[in-house]
Amino acid sequence: MDPREQLRTYLEQRRETGETELVLDKLSIDEVLRIIAGEASSARGSAVAAAAAAEIEHPSSVRSGDPGTGDWRSTLRDAGAAPAAKPPAAEPLPGEQTPVASTDPAPVKPPSIPRLAFPQPGHEAGGPDEASEFKTGIVVGAADSELFRSPFSHLDSLQAIAETVRSCTRCPLYATATNAVPGEGDPNADLVCVGEAPGASEDETGRPFVGESGKLLTKILEAIKLSREEVFICNVLKHRPPGNRNPLPGEVEACSPYLIRQLEIVRPKVIVTFGTFAAQTLLNTKSSLSQLRGLVHRYYGTPLIVTYHPAALLRNPAWKRPTWNDVQLARRVLDSARQGS
Ligand code: SF4
Repeated sequence: MDPREQLRTYLEQRRETGETELVLDKLSIDEVLRIIAGEASSARGSAVAAAAAAEIEHPSSVRSGDPGTGDWRSTLRDAGAAPAAKPPAAEPLPGEQTPVASTDPAPVKPPSIPRLAFPQPGHEAGGPDEASEFKTGIVVGAADSELFRSPFSHLDSLQAIAETVRSCTRCPLYATATNAVPGEGDPNADLVCVGEAPGASEDETGRPFVGESGKLLTKILEAIKLSREEVFICNVLKHRPPGNRNPLPGEVEACSPYLIRQLEIVRPKVIVTFGTFAAQTLLNTKSSLSQLRGLVHRYYGTPLIVTYHPAALLRNPAWKRPTWNDVQLARRVLDSARQGS
C-alpha cells in the first residue's frame, strides 16, 4: 500500500479512538492529514509518511514513549515536522504518565450521570481493595453512594427496565429505530459489557451485539472463558442513532439512567466498556481510549476496564492483540474480586 494511503488510514483509525494530537509530537491528526494530502512540502509529507510507516510497523515504540526506540520522532525532527522538546504535561504522549493514571486518584464527580447505589465490601473509591495490585485509573463516585432518586428507581428488575425502554420517548431516537435494544444476559452476572449504541443488526433484532461484531464479542468472551449467557450485555443508548451516527449529548443524558439502573440491579464485579464512547460516558472524561486502556478505573466502586469496540477490531485487526491484553486484565480483576467476596 502507498505509504501516504497507509498513513491516512492509520491516522483515521487513531482519530476513531478519540485521539487528536498525541500521535505525532504536537501535530494534530488533521494537520498531518493535510500534509499527506499535499498541502505542505512533499519532503515533509514523505518524512511524516515514513515516520508513520515505522510506527505502524512497530506501534509499541510509540506507546512506550521511549525516546530510545522512537525513531519516528527523530525522523520527524530531522524533517522539521516536529519539535525536539517534549510536549507539555497537558498533552501527554501515549504510555507516559497521564492525568488519568494515578496511584492516589481523587474521585471525579460526574455532572450529568446520576449516582449509583451498589456498595460492595472493600470497594471504597481510591482505597485498598481487591484490585489494588492493578494500576488505578479514574474513580467516578463513591462506592457507598445513596440510591439515586431517578424516574427509574422504581424499576426493580431488568425486565421492568426493558419494558420501559420499549415504550420510551425521552429522546427522539425511538422514532427512527425499528426496535429498542435494552440488553440481555444473566441478571446476576459478575461481568457487564457496555457498548455505545445499537447498530443495524441490533436494531433489526432488538438484541445487543449481534452480527459480525457480536460474533467477535462472543469470541472475546470465550477467550477469557466466559459465555454470552454468563454476562450481561448492553449499550449506553437503547435505540439506534440514524445511520449509526455518534450519539448526541442530550440523547446520552436521557438514556444513561437506564444503564445506571441496570448496573444497580446486576451489581457486577467488573464492567468492561467497548469503544471510546462508552468509556468516556461512564468515566465522564474526554481522555482517549489509549490513555484509558490498561488501567482499572472505578465506577461507583466497581472496577471498570476499557477496550476497543469489536466493530473497530473488524476494521483494524491490529487492535486484536491489545484487546486480548485488556480482556485478560478484566479476567484477572474478576478472579481477584471473586476470591475477595
Ligand atoms: S435512546 Fe434511550 S432515552 Fe432515547 S428513546 Fe430510546 S430508550 Fe428512550
